[in-house]
Amino acid sequence: MSIAVVLGTRPEIIKLAPVIAELQPDTDIIHTGQHFDDAMSKVFFDLFALPEPTHNLGVGGTSRGAQIGETVKTLDGLFAENLPDVVVVQGDTNTTMGAAIAANARGIPIAHVEAGLRSYDRAMPEEHNRVVTDHIADLHLVPTPTSAENLAKEGITGEGVVVTGNTVVDAVQHLSGTLPPAGAQEPYAVATFHRPENVDDPTRLAQIVSQLGTLSIPVIFAVHPRTSAMADRHGIDLSVGTLDSRPPLGYLEFLGLLRSSSLVIGDSGGLQEEVSVMKKPMVVLRRSTERPEVIGTFCKLIEDPIKIGPAAEAWLAGNPHDLDTLADIRSPYGDGDAGARSAKEIQKLLT
Ligand code: UDP
Repeated sequence: MSIAVVLGTRPEIIKLAPVIAELQPDTDIIHTGQHFDDAMSKVFFDLFALPEPTHNLGVGGTSRGAQIGETVKTLDGLFAENLPDVVVVQGDTNTTMGAAIAANARGIPIAHVEAGLRSYDRAMPEEHNRVVTDHIADLHLVPTPTSAENLAKEGITGEGVVVTGNTVVDAVQHLSGTLPPAGAQEPYAVATFHRPENVDDPTRLAQIVSQLGTLSIPVIFAVHPRTSAMADRHGIDLSVGTLDSRPPLGYLEFLGLLRSSSLVIGDSGGLQEEVSVMKKPMVVLRRSTERPEVIGTFCKLIEDPIKIGPAAEAWLAGNPHDLDTLADIRSPYGDGDAGARSAKEIQKLLT
C-alpha cells in the first residue's frame, strides 16, 4: 500500500502537513521543486517535521508550461517504476495540475485536497489548474459546502465529494499553542503580495508599495521571492515611508506577527483563510476571489491599488467590523479536523 503525496510550494506544504501527519507511515513525498528557496520550502518541512521527499524534480524557476510538462514527464517515469495506489495533490498550483495529469495518465486514483474552489476568473492560471485537477480527480476533499456546490455546477457530485474543512485551520491550531507570548506593541499591519496580476505590472506594484508605505500605522511587508525579483527588475524601492520589508518569514514567525497585528493586507489565498482563524480583518487586493466565504466579514475585496489606503483606514477606524465583532464570527473553514477527515477518505481509496 503506498500513497504518493506530490507537492511543490509553500502553501501546499503547510496545508498537506496535517494530512501527511495522519497518513504516516504510508506516504512518500515527492517535491516538484516549484518553490526551491529554503525560506519557501525547507523551513516548512522542518517546522512540521515532515519526512524528506523521496525525489525532488527541480522544476523551479522555469515557465508555467515547462513546470507542468516537466512534472508530468518526470512523474510518469517515477510512477512507471513504482506505481502508487493513490496520488494526493493539494490546491491549484502547476505542481497540483502536473501531478494530477501524470497520475491520470497511469490510471492512479487522485485525491484532491482543497478541491472545488472557483474564482470564475479565467485570467488566473490557478483557476485553470484547479478546474483541470478537479475534473480528473477521483476524491474531492472540499473545504466548505460552497466548494461542493461549485463542483456540482460542473457535474461533479456523489461519494467522491466530501466536505472536510480546510487543513490550514489544523495547521494554525497546531502551531498556535507554540507561539511565544505576545508582548505589548504599537499597532502595525502585515502585508504580503505575490500574484502575477499584482506584482508583474511595475505600475501596479509601485502603487501597492506607495499605499503600504503611507498608511497611518507601520506595515511589515513579507516579500515573496517573485515580488522582490520584480521590484529589483523595475527599480522599485520596497522600503518607502514606514514600510518594513522583510524576506519571506517562517510560518511560526508569520503567525506570531499576524496574531498581534491590527490589519492584514495582501493577495494570498491561504491568508484569507488564516485571518478567519486568527480573527483579523484583511484588505484583499484582487479582481476576484475563490474564497467568497470570508468576503463581507473578515475580508474586503478591492481591485484598485489606490484604494488600499482608504480600505485599510476604514478597518482601522472600526468600520465595517471592529475586532470584537470579528472575534465572535466562526471561521467558515472548519474546526481543525480537516486533516484527519481527509486522511480517512484517502485511506478508503486503498481498500
Ligand atoms: N506565509 C508565511 N510566511 C510569509 C508569508 C506567508 O509562512 O512570509 C504563509 C501564509 O501564512 C500562508 C501561506 O504562506 O499560510 C500562503 O502562501 P502564499 O501566499 O504563497 O500562497 P497562496 O495561499 O496565495 O496560494
